[in-house]
Amino acid sequence: MTEAENKFVSLSESEVAQRLFDAGSVLVLFHINPDGDAIGSAFALKHTLLSLGKSAWCICASEAPERLLFALSDSQESVLPSSIPEGMEFDLVVSVDTASPSQLGDLYEIYKDKIDIMIDHHGKGTPYADNYVLPGASSCGEVLCLVIDRLLSMAKAEMPKRVSELIYTAISSDTGCFRYSNVSPSTHILAARLIESGVDGADINHRLFGIKSLKQMQVEHAGFERMNFYSGGRIAIITFPYDLKAQYGATDENLETLVDVARCVKGVEVAAVIKQPTEENKFRVSMRSSCDFDVSEICAHYGGGGHVRAAGCTLTSDSILAAEMTVVVAVEQRMQDEASKNES
Ligand code: AMP
Ligand code: MN
Ligand code: MN
Repeated sequence: MTEAENKFVSLSESEVAQRLFDAGSVLVLFHINPDGDAIGSAFALKHTLLSLGKSAWCICASEAPERLLFALSDSQESVLPSSIPEGMEFDLVVSVDTASPSQLGDLYEIYKDKIDIMIDHHGKGTPYADNYVLPGASSCGEVLCLVIDRLLSMAKAEMPKRVSELIYTAISSDTGCFRYSNVSPSTHILAARLIESGVDGADINHRLFGIKSLKQMQVEHAGFERMNFYSGGRIAIITFPYDLKAQYGATDENLETLVDVARCVKGVEVAAVIKQPTEENKFRVSMRSSCDFDVSEICAHYGGGGHVRAAGCTLTSDSILAAEMTVVVAVEQRMQDEASKNES
């Protein structure tokens, strides 16, 4: 950690709850290209605060994907900064599920000196504010629930059903419907408590995992055809250049599940998808590991981060092929280093 990062302190759950308790109005930020954990956590916090008579608003550098719009319903039509009601001011700015400044996109320039607290669960990233981070937790939703429980008990209030649903959405989303290794006994205990309080888990999971748009499936098919294997099938990489995205008329949301196509092939230990969101030579890398191979170390080396088994970064390269080679070389090198470590 650099000296600049060191200036931020780790907060306890009760310190975070106290700061929220004392605030009248809170702005909640979350990461660009938001997933269910980011949106579920942000809106769970918003609706907790609203239930306590405070005001709150949630924003992100990119719009919420269609499949997660249910989390916003009757609350906000948009999550772009331009959606903040005119004249609304904030006593506290909190980010959720966002490990690095780069994940804040354009919000970072606007809010960099104004972010009071980050609430997160990523093991690798670059802190940009005082923080409450539990890297062992399945999701930001699980971390946030500890804060919300504390805040509600300070206010002697019950958790609104909508908050329970949003926390369940966050947890299920980041655990791949409770399938990944980030699920712990406490994750299941919390999910059980939420279901017991009336959350319809089957409905939420169907929305999150049971439905795909036709476009998404066409993109997955195209990605499958473009999949390259390396190291005898231990590494699978799909590249998705901008011209292909344009040809399919695909949105960034349509490309979200491409990495799962590469990840689930038998024998693949490390899967990566390299996307080119715009014509610029900036390539968004999503990496997944199905073993103890730490993809967050590789992503952190390129300014990104994440978790051992799921991480991301952005590479600036001459071409998407050059970006693919950078990823292949980095993964193969690390695989070799780990093999020699295990031999000695
Ligand atoms: P993605 O491949 O974009 O779904 O990201 C996989 C995981 O890595 C998620 O938990 C992300 O929040 C995290 N992640 C992605 N990009 C970054 C970054 N630049 N810094 C820190 N964490 C990241
Ligand atoms: Mn996320
Ligand atoms: Mn998360």
